[in-house]
Amino acid sequence: MCPRNCYDSCPMLAYTSHGRIDHISGDNLTPGAYRQLCSKSNQILSTVYHKDRLLYPMIQHGRGTGNWQRISWDTAIEIIARKILDLKERFGSTLPLCLNKYSGNFSLLRNACEGMFNSLGPTTQTIGTPCFSSGLDAQKLDFGGNITSQTQTLVNAKLIVLWGVNPAWTAIHTMPALYAARECGAKIVVIDPVRTETANKADYYIQLRPGSDTALALLLLCRLHKRHALVTESDKITGLAEFLKGLSKIDQSKLLAAVDQSEEAIDFLTGLIAAHHPMHIWAGFGLQRHLQGGLAIRLIDALSMLTGNIGIAGGGVNFADRDAFQLPRFIEQRRNDTRFVNINQFSHTLQTLTDPPVRLLWIACRDLLTQDVGLQELHALWPNLELIVTADKFLTTTAQMSDIVLPVTTEFEDLDIYTGYFQQWLGINERAIPPQGETKSDLEIARLLTRRLNELSPGTSTFPAHLTDEEFLDRELPESLCQTIGIKNWRQLRKGAIKVRKNPVAWEGQHFATSDGKFHCCPIPAKLAEFLPSEETPFYFITPHAQQNINGQIHARRKELPEYPIVYLHPEPAKRLGLSESCQVILWNQHGQLTGTVRFDKTLPPDVILSYQGSSKHGTVNALNGGRVSDLGSLSTGAPGVALYDVLVNIRKK
Ligand code: SF4
Repeated sequence: MCPRNCYDSCPMLAYTSHGRIDHISGDNLTPGAYRQLCSKSNQILSTVYHKDRLLYPMIQHGRGTGNWQRISWDTAIEIIARKILDLKERFGSTLPLCLNKYSGNFSLLRNACEGMFNSLGPTTQTIGTPCFSSGLDAQKLDFGGNITSQTQTLVNAKLIVLWGVNPAWTAIHTMPALYAARECGAKIVVIDPVRTETANKADYYIQLRPGSDTALALLLLCRLHKRHALVTESDKITGLAEFLKGLSKIDQSKLLAAVDQSEEAIDFLTGLIAAHHPMHIWAGFGLQRHLQGGLAIRLIDALSMLTGNIGIAGGGVNFADRDAFQLPRFIEQRRNDTRFVNINQFSHTLQTLTDPPVRLLWIACRDLLTQDVGLQELHALWPNLELIVTADKFLTTTAQMSDIVLPVTTEFEDLDIYTGYFQQWLGINERAIPPQGETKSDLEIARLLTRRLNELSPGTSTFPAHLTDEEFLDRELPESLCQTIGIKNWRQLRKGAIKVRKNPVAWEGQHFATSDGKFHCCPIPAKLAEFLPSEETPFYFITPHAQQNINGQIHARRKELPEYPIVYLHPEPAKRLGLSESCQVILWNQHGQLTGTVRFDKTLPPDVILSYQGSSKHGTVNALNGGRVSDLGSLSTGAPGVALYDVLVNIRKK
C-alpha cells in the first residue's frame, strides 16, 4: 500500500527485475479509481534509489558540523547501548530516554520503536497527533467513534459540502465519485478560505474567513432552526432540547460578522441545505486545527444529524475512519508508567522535565526540527541532550543536527501491514527488493539494540527480539481478529488489500457507539474564540498541503524546490507594503520569523498570506507557530490537538 500518510492509502504493486523495482502501479484488483496512483507516487520509487538516501550508519563529530563518519552497525549500536546503560545508572531511571516518533510511515511493525523503548522500563515518549485529534474526539463524543461512509455512496447525495478539504490535490481518487454524484444531480459546495482547485470545479464556493468554521456551522444551525428545517424531537438524540434552546439565544449578528459573509450568501447556503437531501459533508482536517476546532466538527455533525442526514446513503459527515477494528498492538509492549509528553507541546514540556531530565533523544518517522512547533525552544534545549539518534531515509534537517543516523528501509524492503485512516484499506507490503545498502527496518534495529543491551547487562530489555516479522504479525492479526474483517488470516492479504468495513454507510440506521446508543449534541458555547488580525500581526497565515508532497516528505525532490518558501498574497496589500512579485520578504510574529519569496494571488483575501507546507529547501512554516492547544483530542489520542492554523503574522521586505 502507498505509505504516504494520505487520505487515499492506495493499494499498489511493484514490478521487479534482477533485484530492482522497474515501476510501480495501482492494483488492478481494486475498484476503478484506485487502479491508478497519483502523481505524488512518482517520488516513492525515486526515494528508494535516490542518490542522497542514507545507506549506512554514520556518526557526526560535532553536532551540526557536517563532519560525518561512516560506522558499522555494531559500532552504532554499541554507542547507543552504552549510553542507555550509562544514563540508567547515573539517573537510576530509564526516564531520561525519550522517543519522538510520528507518521512518516504508518506501518505496524515500525512500532517496534515504541516496543523497544517500553522494554527498557518507563521512558519518556510523545503522545497525541498534530493532525486530527480534535476532530477525532468530536466525532467520538457525538457518534461514539470515527467511521466514514464509502465514496461510492456519494452518488446518492443531492448536496455535497466539501468543507476545508481539497481532494483535487489531496485525495484525487475521490474525484471520480464526486463527478459521478454530480452526473446524478448532486450540487457541490466548497467552503474554504483558499480558492482551491476543488473550489474551481465546484458549483458553489464560499470563501470563509480563516478559523470561522465554528461560527459558520452555528450560524447555519440557527438559520435552519428558524426555517423549521431541524428536527425538534428524536429518540436518537441526547441533549436535543437544550441544544435547540441554546441556538435560539444566539446573537446571530456576531456570527455573521465573524464569518465575514453577506446575508445573501448565508441565506443561499441555508436554502441549499434545507432543500437538498441527502447531504454529505466532508470535513477536512484543517478546520479542526483551531482553538475551537473540535467544536467546529461537533457543530458540523449536529448540522448533519439534525437535518436527517446521518445513517443514510449519500449522507453523513466524513472526517476519519479509525474504528473498523482494533489491533492488539503487541509489538508496542505498552506499559502504564510511560512518561508521556504531548507531541504538540514537546519542546515546552521537555524544558520542564527535571526529575529526571531527558538526555537521550531518539527520533523516528519524522523531521522534528521542521515539523515541531516551538522550534526556538527546541533549538535552545538541544545542547542539553547527550545523545541524539535519528532513524531515517535521508539526512533531514533533524538528522543533520543528530549525533548518530541510522538508515532505515523503505516500504519495498520489508514485510509489514498498513492501514488507512479514511478509506478503510488494510493491506500488506511484502519485500519486493532486498534492503538497499546497509539499511535496516525499525524492527531489526530494535532487535539489534535489545540483544546488545542484554549482552552488556542481562535483563535490560524485554523486547521479544527472537520473534520473526511473520510471528509479530501472527500476534497482531490473530485469526479471531481476521475473521471479524472477513479474512481467514493476514497471509490472505498477499492476494490484495481489503476494505475492512463491509457496510458502506456510516452509522446506518442511526445505531451509534455512544454509551446510550444515541447521537450526542454538544453544548452551545457561551462565547466563540476570537482570533483576529491586529496592528502588530495584520495577516492570517495559512499553510495547507502542497500539491506534490505530503507534509515534510520532500527529500526525493528537494533539489527542485526553491531555496525559501513561496509566500502568496493579494497584490493590493503587497502594493501598499511596497512588495513586488518575486521580492524576498520576512514574515514574523512573536514565535519566530521566516524568509520567503512573494508571489501574487488575486484569489486570496487581502488579509491572508499563504504558504504551502514543505515547499522549500530551507525554512519551515512552523517557525511562526506557537502551538496553542486546541479544545479536544485527549480522548482519542491521549493529548489535546494543536491550533496549527491559528497563526497571525506581519510581513516586510527583506
Ligand atoms: S493518492 Fe495518496 S495514497 Fe494514492 S498514490 Fe497518491 S499519495 Fe499514495
